[in-house]
Amino acid sequence: MKRDTVLTHAGRYPRQNHGIVNPPVYHASTVLYPNLDAYEAAQKKREYGKTFYGLSGTPTTFSFEEAVAKLEGAFRARAVGSGLAAITAPLVGCLKAGDHLLMVDNTYAPSRRFCDGVLKRYGVETTYYDPGIGADVARLFKPNTRVLFMEAPGSLTFEMQDIPAMVAAARKAGIVTMIDNTWASPYYFRPIEHGVDISIQAATKYLCGHSDVIMGTVASNEALADKVDAAVRDLGFFASPDDCYLVMRGMRTMAVRLPRHWETSLKLARWLREQPEVDRVYHPALPEDPGHALWKRDFEGSTGLFSVGFKAIPRDGLAAFVDGMKLFGMGASWGGFESLVLPANPAPIRTATSWKAPGPLLRIHAGLEDPDDLIADLDAAFGRLRVVLGGGKA
Ligand SMILES: *Cc1c(COP(=O)(O)O)cnc(C)c1O
Repeated sequence: MKRDTVLTHAGRYPRQNHGIVNPPVYHASTVLYPNLDAYEAAQKKREYGKTFYGLSGTPTTFSFEEAVAKLEGAFRARAVGSGLAAITAPLVGCLKAGDHLLMVDNTYAPSRRFCDGVLKRYGVETTYYDPGIGADVARLFKPNTRVLFMEAPGSLTFEMQDIPAMVAAARKAGIVTMIDNTWASPYYFRPIEHGVDISIQAATKYLCGHSDVIMGTVASNEALADKVDAAVRDLGFFASPDDCYLVMRGMRTMAVRLPRHWETSLKLARWLREQPEVDRVYHPALPEDPGHALWKRDFEGSTGLFSVGFKAIPRDGLAAFVDGMKLFGMGASWGGFESLVLPANPAPIRTATSWKAPGPLLRIHAGLEDPDDLIADLDAAFGRLRVVLGGGKA
Protein backbone atom coordinates (compact mmCIF):
# COMPACT_ATOMS: atom_id res chain seq x y z
CA MET A 1 0.00 0.00 0.00
CA LYS A 2 1.09 3.55 -0.67
CA ARG A 3 1.78 5.87 2.26
CA ASP A 4 -1.48 7.87 2.03
CA THR A 5 -3.47 4.64 2.26
CA VAL A 6 -1.34 3.45 5.17
CA LEU A 7 -2.07 6.73 6.98
CA THR A 8 -5.79 6.26 6.46
CA HIS A 9 -6.12 2.58 7.41
CA ALA A 10 -3.20 1.42 9.56
CA GLY A 11 -3.99 0.41 13.15
CA ARG A 12 -7.77 0.41 12.69
CA TYR A 13 -9.94 -2.67 13.29
CA PRO A 14 -13.59 -1.52 13.09
CA ARG A 15 -14.96 -5.05 12.89
CA GLN A 16 -13.42 -5.90 16.23
CA ASN A 17 -14.71 -2.67 17.77
CA HIS A 18 -18.48 -2.66 17.14
CA GLY A 19 -17.89 -1.20 13.67
CA ILE A 20 -16.53 2.02 15.16
CA VAL A 21 -14.05 3.67 12.79
CA ASN A 22 -11.39 4.61 15.35
CA PRO A 23 -9.81 2.29 17.91
CA PRO A 24 -11.14 2.69 21.46
CA VAL A 25 -9.07 4.26 24.22
CA TYR A 26 -8.23 1.74 26.93
CA HIS A 27 -7.23 3.24 30.26
CA ALA A 28 -5.40 0.69 32.35
CA SER A 29 -2.99 0.08 35.14
CA THR A 30 -4.06 -3.30 36.58
CA VAL A 31 -4.86 -6.17 34.24
CA LEU A 32 -6.67 -9.09 35.93
CA TYR A 33 -5.98 -12.79 35.48
CA PRO A 34 -8.60 -15.47 36.17
CA ASN A 35 -6.28 -17.98 37.86
CA LEU A 36 -2.70 -18.84 38.76
CA ASP A 37 -2.05 -20.69 35.50
CA ALA A 38 -3.09 -17.69 33.41
CA TYR A 39 -1.07 -15.27 35.52
CA GLU A 40 2.07 -17.38 35.46
CA ALA A 41 1.75 -17.97 31.71
CA ALA A 42 1.38 -14.25 31.03
CA GLN A 43 4.30 -13.43 33.30
CA LYS A 44 6.56 -16.00 31.66
CA LYS A 45 5.68 -15.02 28.11
CA ARG A 46 5.97 -11.23 28.19
CA GLU A 47 5.77 -10.61 24.44
CA TYR A 48 5.30 -7.33 22.63
CA GLY A 49 1.69 -6.57 21.81
CA LYS A 50 0.14 -8.27 24.84
CA THR A 51 -1.23 -6.15 27.68
CA PHE A 52 0.36 -7.53 30.84
CA TYR A 53 0.09 -4.37 32.89
CA GLY A 54 -0.85 -0.83 31.81
CA LEU A 55 2.79 0.24 31.62
CA SER A 56 3.56 -2.37 28.97
CA GLY A 57 0.92 -0.85 26.68
CA THR A 58 -2.79 -1.26 25.99
CA PRO A 59 -4.57 -2.16 22.73
CA THR A 60 -4.71 1.60 22.02
CA THR A 61 -0.92 1.85 22.32
CA PHE A 62 -0.42 -1.16 20.06
CA SER A 63 -2.83 0.18 17.40
CA PHE A 64 -0.91 3.44 17.31
CA GLU A 65 2.46 1.71 17.26
CA GLU A 66 1.32 -0.53 14.43
CA ALA A 67 0.30 2.52 12.37
CA VAL A 68 3.68 4.18 13.01
CA ALA A 69 5.61 1.00 12.18
CA LYS A 70 3.72 0.64 8.89
CA LEU A 71 4.36 4.27 7.92
CA GLU A 72 8.05 3.93 8.87
CA GLY A 73 8.46 0.59 7.08
CA ALA A 74 9.82 -0.66 10.41
CA PHE A 75 9.66 -4.02 12.14
CA ARG A 76 8.26 -2.37 15.25
CA ALA A 77 7.60 1.07 16.70
CA ARG A 78 7.30 2.04 20.34
CA ALA A 79 5.56 5.11 21.71
CA VAL A 80 7.17 6.98 24.60
CA GLY A 81 6.27 10.08 26.58
CA SER A 82 8.28 12.64 24.57
CA GLY A 83 10.48 13.10 21.54
CA LEU A 84 13.41 13.43 23.91
CA ALA A 85 12.55 10.05 25.50
CA ALA A 86 12.53 8.58 21.98
CA ILE A 87 16.15 9.77 21.64
CA THR A 88 17.39 8.71 25.07
CA ALA A 89 15.75 5.24 25.17
CA PRO A 90 17.55 3.72 22.15
CA LEU A 91 20.84 5.36 23.21
CA VAL A 92 20.52 3.77 26.65
CA GLY A 93 19.51 0.48 25.06
CA CYS A 94 22.49 0.31 22.69
CA LEU A 95 25.32 1.84 24.76
CA LYS A 96 27.23 0.71 27.84
CA ALA A 97 30.12 2.06 29.91
CA GLY A 98 33.29 2.25 27.83
CA ASP A 99 31.44 2.71 24.52
CA HIS A 100 31.90 5.58 22.10
CA LEU A 101 29.08 7.52 20.43
CA LEU A 102 29.27 9.73 17.33
CA MET A 103 26.73 12.54 17.52
CA VAL A 104 26.07 15.15 14.82
CA ASP A 105 27.18 18.63 15.88
CA ASN A 106 23.94 20.41 14.94
CA THR A 107 21.76 18.01 16.89
CA TYR A 108 18.67 18.99 18.85
CA ALA A 109 20.15 20.72 21.91
CA PRO A 110 18.61 18.43 24.59
CA SER A 111 20.18 15.40 22.82
CA ARG A 112 23.56 17.04 23.29
CA ARG A 113 22.80 17.73 26.95
CA PHE A 114 21.95 14.04 27.44
CA CYS A 115 25.30 13.00 25.91
CA ASP A 116 27.34 15.53 27.89
CA GLY A 117 25.46 14.81 31.11
CA VAL A 118 23.90 11.39 31.65
CA LEU A 119 25.91 9.40 29.10
CA LYS A 120 29.18 10.92 30.23
CA ARG A 121 28.44 10.12 33.88
CA TYR A 122 27.71 6.52 32.90
CA GLY A 123 31.03 6.19 31.08
CA VAL A 124 30.02 6.72 27.45
CA GLU A 125 32.27 9.03 25.43
CA THR A 126 30.69 11.28 22.76
CA THR A 127 32.45 12.76 19.74
CA TYR A 128 30.57 15.44 17.82
CA TYR A 129 31.02 15.51 14.05
CA ASP A 130 30.41 17.94 11.21
CA PRO A 131 27.00 17.24 9.62
CA GLY A 132 28.66 17.52 6.19
CA ILE A 133 31.22 14.79 6.89
CA GLY A 134 29.61 12.06 4.72
CA ALA A 135 31.54 8.79 4.27
CA ASP A 136 34.58 10.37 5.97
CA VAL A 137 32.81 9.71 9.25
CA ALA A 138 34.65 6.37 9.09
CA ARG A 139 37.82 8.26 10.07
CA LEU A 140 36.20 8.95 13.45
CA PHE A 141 35.36 5.30 14.11
CA LYS A 142 37.17 3.76 17.07
CA PRO A 143 37.20 0.11 18.10
CA ASN A 144 34.61 0.94 20.77
CA THR A 145 32.30 3.08 18.59
CA ARG A 146 28.83 1.56 18.96
CA VAL A 147 26.38 4.18 17.70
CA LEU A 148 26.34 6.76 14.92
CA PHE A 149 23.57 9.29 15.54
CA MET A 150 22.31 11.52 12.73
CA GLU A 151 19.73 14.27 12.39
CA ALA A 152 18.97 15.66 8.94
CA PRO A 153 18.34 18.39 8.39
CA GLY A 154 19.25 19.93 11.74
CA SER A 155 16.18 21.61 13.22
CA LEU A 156 17.75 25.08 13.59
CA THR A 157 20.28 25.34 10.80
CA PHE A 158 19.00 22.76 8.29
CA GLU A 159 22.25 21.14 7.08
CA MET A 160 21.57 17.90 5.25
CA GLN A 161 23.62 14.73 5.80
CA ASP A 162 24.69 12.10 3.27
CA ILE A 163 22.72 9.40 5.07
CA PRO A 164 23.31 6.45 2.67
CA ALA A 165 27.08 7.05 2.64
CA MET A 166 27.23 7.25 6.43
CA VAL A 167 25.02 4.19 6.88
CA ALA A 168 27.23 2.19 4.50
CA ALA A 169 30.36 3.15 6.45
CA ALA A 170 28.71 2.29 9.78
CA ARG A 171 27.39 -1.05 8.49
CA LYS A 172 30.87 -2.09 7.44
CA ALA A 173 32.15 -1.37 10.94
CA GLY A 174 29.22 -3.00 12.76
CA ILE A 175 28.03 0.33 14.21
CA VAL A 176 24.35 0.93 14.98
CA THR A 177 22.81 3.92 13.16
CA MET A 178 20.04 6.12 14.55
CA ILE A 179 18.42 9.23 13.13
CA ASP A 180 16.24 11.95 14.57
CA ASN A 181 13.91 12.21 11.57
CA THR A 182 11.46 14.70 13.03
CA TRP A 183 11.86 17.32 10.28
CA ALA A 184 10.94 15.14 7.30
CA SER A 185 8.68 12.82 9.31
CA PRO A 186 8.29 9.26 8.01
CA TYR A 187 5.89 10.70 5.44
CA TYR A 188 8.74 12.26 3.44
CA PHE A 189 11.71 10.11 4.50
CA ARG A 190 11.70 6.54 5.75
CA PRO A 191 15.15 6.00 7.29
CA ILE A 192 14.78 2.25 7.76
CA GLU A 193 14.27 1.79 4.02
CA HIS A 194 17.60 3.60 3.61
CA GLY A 195 19.40 1.18 5.91
CA VAL A 196 19.23 3.16 9.17
CA ASP A 197 18.63 0.87 12.16
CA ILE A 198 16.51 3.15 14.34
CA SER A 199 14.24 6.00 13.26
CA ILE A 200 13.26 8.54 15.92
CA GLN A 201 10.35 10.91 15.74
CA ALA A 202 9.17 13.68 18.03
CA ALA A 203 5.51 12.78 17.46
CA THR A 204 4.82 16.07 19.26
CA LYS A 205 5.45 17.73 15.89
CA TYR A 206 3.89 16.57 12.59
CA LEU A 207 2.43 13.21 13.63
CA CYS A 208 0.28 15.00 16.20
CA GLY A 209 0.02 18.18 14.16
CA HIS A 210 -2.17 20.09 16.59
CA SER A 211 0.20 21.45 19.26
CA ASP A 212 -1.55 19.61 22.08
CA VAL A 213 0.46 16.42 22.76
CA ILE A 214 4.01 15.62 23.82
CA MET A 215 5.09 12.22 22.51
CA GLY A 216 7.89 10.35 20.78
CA THR A 217 8.18 7.21 18.69
CA VAL A 218 11.12 4.86 18.18
CA ALA A 219 10.90 2.67 15.08
CA SER A 220 13.43 -0.10 14.62
CA ASN A 221 14.45 -2.90 12.34
CA GLU A 222 14.05 -6.49 13.51
CA ALA A 223 17.61 -6.80 14.84
CA LEU A 224 17.20 -3.94 17.33
CA ALA A 225 13.51 -4.05 18.21
CA ASP A 226 13.97 -6.08 21.40
CA LYS A 227 16.85 -3.90 22.60
CA VAL A 228 14.68 -0.81 22.22
CA ASP A 229 11.77 -2.56 23.97
CA ALA A 230 13.97 -3.53 26.88
CA ALA A 231 15.25 0.05 27.28
CA VAL A 232 11.73 1.50 27.14
CA ARG A 233 10.58 -1.05 29.74
CA ASP A 234 13.57 -0.69 32.08
CA LEU A 235 13.43 3.11 32.00
CA GLY A 236 9.70 3.02 32.72
CA PHE A 237 8.95 5.14 29.65
CA PHE A 238 5.30 5.31 28.71
CA ALA A 239 2.85 7.03 26.39
CA SER A 240 -0.68 7.56 27.63
CA PRO A 241 -3.51 5.90 25.69
CA ASP A 242 -5.31 9.25 25.34
CA ASP A 243 -2.21 10.74 23.73
CA CYS A 244 -1.76 7.68 21.48
CA TYR A 245 -5.34 8.20 20.34
CA LEU A 246 -4.80 11.91 19.63
CA VAL A 247 -1.56 11.39 17.71
CA MET A 248 -3.14 8.61 15.66
CA ARG A 249 -5.97 10.99 14.83
CA GLY A 250 -3.40 13.58 13.75
CA MET A 251 -1.71 11.03 11.50
CA ARG A 252 -4.90 10.46 9.52
CA THR A 253 -4.58 13.93 7.96
CA MET A 254 -0.81 14.07 7.45
CA ALA A 255 -1.19 13.42 3.72
CA VAL A 256 -3.08 16.69 3.29
CA ARG A 257 -1.34 18.74 5.96
CA LEU A 258 2.29 18.16 5.03
CA PRO A 259 2.16 19.18 1.35
CA ARG A 260 0.56 22.44 2.46
CA HIS A 261 3.27 23.09 5.09
CA TRP A 262 5.86 22.41 2.38
CA GLU A 263 4.27 24.70 -0.20
CA THR A 264 3.75 27.57 2.22
CA SER A 265 7.26 27.28 3.66
CA LEU A 266 8.73 27.59 0.15
CA LYS A 267 6.53 30.55 -0.63
CA LEU A 268 7.65 32.31 2.55
CA ALA A 269 11.30 31.32 2.01
CA ARG A 270 11.32 32.71 -1.54
CA TRP A 271 9.75 35.96 -0.38
CA LEU A 272 12.12 36.27 2.58
CA ARG A 273 15.30 35.79 0.55
CA GLU A 274 14.41 38.90 -1.50
CA GLN A 275 14.32 41.20 1.53
CA PRO A 276 17.41 43.44 1.77
CA GLU A 277 17.86 42.80 5.53
CA VAL A 278 18.12 39.03 4.94
CA ASP A 279 21.55 37.41 4.67
CA ARG A 280 20.27 33.99 3.61
CA VAL A 281 17.46 31.51 4.03
CA TYR A 282 18.19 28.00 5.35
CA HIS A 283 15.82 25.59 3.64
CA PRO A 284 17.00 22.41 1.89
CA ALA A 285 14.07 22.47 -0.54
CA LEU A 286 15.36 25.77 -2.03
CA PRO A 287 17.49 25.00 -5.13
CA GLU A 288 20.38 27.23 -3.98
CA ASP A 289 20.61 25.61 -0.53
CA PRO A 290 23.88 23.67 0.00
CA GLY A 291 21.86 20.63 1.11
CA HIS A 292 19.46 20.72 -1.82
CA ALA A 293 21.06 17.92 -3.88
CA LEU A 294 21.00 15.49 -0.93
CA TRP A 295 17.45 16.48 -0.06
CA LYS A 296 16.33 15.92 -3.65
CA ARG A 297 18.11 12.59 -3.91
CA ASP A 298 16.91 11.06 -0.64
CA PHE A 299 13.72 12.79 0.56
CA GLU A 300 10.26 12.69 -0.99
CA GLY A 301 9.26 16.12 0.22
CA SER A 302 9.77 18.95 2.65
CA THR A 303 7.85 20.07 5.67
CA GLY A 304 7.30 23.60 6.95
CA LEU A 305 10.27 24.37 9.20
CA PHE A 306 13.18 26.53 8.04
CA SER A 307 15.27 29.48 9.19
CA VAL A 308 16.02 32.96 8.00
CA GLY A 309 19.37 34.57 8.80
CA PHE A 310 19.45 38.34 9.06
CA LYS A 311 22.32 40.62 8.19
CA ALA A 312 23.76 42.37 11.25
CA ILE A 313 20.76 43.97 12.95
CA PRO A 314 20.51 45.27 16.51
CA ARG A 315 18.52 43.41 19.16
CA ASP A 316 15.84 46.08 19.25
CA GLY A 317 15.43 45.58 15.51
CA LEU A 318 14.79 41.88 16.03
CA ALA A 319 12.46 42.73 18.90
CA ALA A 320 10.50 45.14 16.70
CA PHE A 321 10.29 42.40 14.06
CA VAL A 322 8.88 39.65 16.29
CA ASP A 323 6.99 41.60 18.94
CA GLY A 324 4.19 42.97 16.78
CA MET A 325 3.42 39.80 14.82
CA LYS A 326 -0.27 39.00 14.50
CA LEU A 327 -0.27 35.47 13.06
CA PHE A 328 3.15 34.07 13.95
CA GLY A 329 3.33 33.00 17.59
CA MET A 330 6.70 32.94 19.34
CA GLY A 331 7.56 29.73 21.14
CA ALA A 332 9.36 26.40 21.14
CA SER A 333 8.16 23.32 19.27
CA TRP A 334 6.57 23.23 15.80
CA GLY A 335 4.65 20.93 13.48
CA GLY A 336 1.21 22.15 14.55
CA PHE A 337 -1.35 23.80 12.29
CA GLU A 338 -0.21 27.30 13.26
CA SER A 339 2.76 29.44 12.26
CA LEU A 340 5.60 30.19 14.65
CA VAL A 341 8.82 32.15 14.90
CA LEU A 342 11.69 31.43 17.28
CA PRO A 343 14.88 33.50 17.60
CA ALA A 344 17.91 31.22 17.98
CA ASN A 345 21.66 31.41 18.33
CA PRO A 346 23.37 28.17 17.24
CA ALA A 347 26.90 29.42 18.07
CA PRO A 348 27.18 28.26 21.71
CA ILE A 349 25.69 24.80 21.05
CA ARG A 350 28.40 23.55 18.69
CA THR A 351 31.85 22.13 19.26
CA ALA A 352 32.96 20.30 16.07
CA THR A 353 32.00 23.17 13.77
CA SER A 354 31.66 26.89 14.26
CA TRP A 355 28.58 28.88 13.41
CA LYS A 356 29.30 31.92 11.31
CA ALA A 357 26.54 34.32 10.38
CA PRO A 358 26.47 38.10 10.29
CA GLY A 359 23.25 38.47 12.26
CA PRO A 360 20.56 36.68 14.24
CA LEU A 361 18.72 33.55 13.13
CA LEU A 362 14.95 33.32 13.19
CA ARG A 363 13.40 29.87 12.87
CA ILE A 364 10.05 29.85 11.12
CA HIS A 365 7.31 27.25 11.12
CA ALA A 366 4.95 27.75 8.19
CA GLY A 367 1.48 26.80 9.37
CA LEU A 368 -1.73 26.17 7.49
CA GLU A 369 -2.89 29.79 7.32
CA ASP A 370 -3.32 31.48 3.94
CA PRO A 371 0.28 32.16 2.79
CA ASP A 372 -0.60 35.68 1.63
CA ASP A 373 -1.76 36.58 5.14
CA LEU A 374 1.51 35.20 6.51
CA ILE A 375 3.53 37.26 4.03
CA ALA A 376 1.56 40.37 5.03
CA ASP A 377 2.45 39.67 8.68
CA LEU A 378 6.13 39.30 7.72
CA ASP A 379 5.99 42.41 5.55
CA ALA A 380 4.68 44.43 8.49
CA ALA A 381 7.51 42.98 10.63
CA PHE A 382 10.12 44.18 8.12
CA GLY A 383 8.40 47.56 8.21
CA ARG A 384 8.92 47.76 11.98
CA LEU A 385 12.53 46.58 11.60
CA ARG A 386 13.20 49.28 8.99
CA VAL A 387 11.91 51.98 11.31
CA VAL A 388 14.52 50.85 13.90
CA LEU A 389 17.27 50.60 11.28
CA GLY A 390 16.36 54.05 10.04
CA GLY A 391 17.00 55.41 13.54
CA GLY A 392 13.37 55.97 14.42
CA LYS A 393 11.17 54.29 16.98
CA ALA A 394 9.14 51.27 15.88
C1 LIG B 1 10.97 18.79 19.46
C2 LIG B 1 12.07 17.92 19.02
C3 LIG B 1 12.48 16.84 19.79
C4 LIG B 1 11.90 16.54 21.15
O1 LIG B 1 10.53 16.35 21.19
P1 LIG B 1 9.74 16.61 22.58
O2 LIG B 1 8.48 15.85 22.37
O3 LIG B 1 9.56 18.07 22.71
O4 LIG B 1 10.57 16.01 23.67
C5 LIG B 1 13.47 16.05 19.30
N1 LIG B 1 14.07 16.31 18.13
C6 LIG B 1 13.71 17.34 17.37
C7 LIG B 1 14.40 17.57 16.07
C8 LIG B 1 12.71 18.18 17.79
O5 LIG B 1 12.37 19.24 17.04
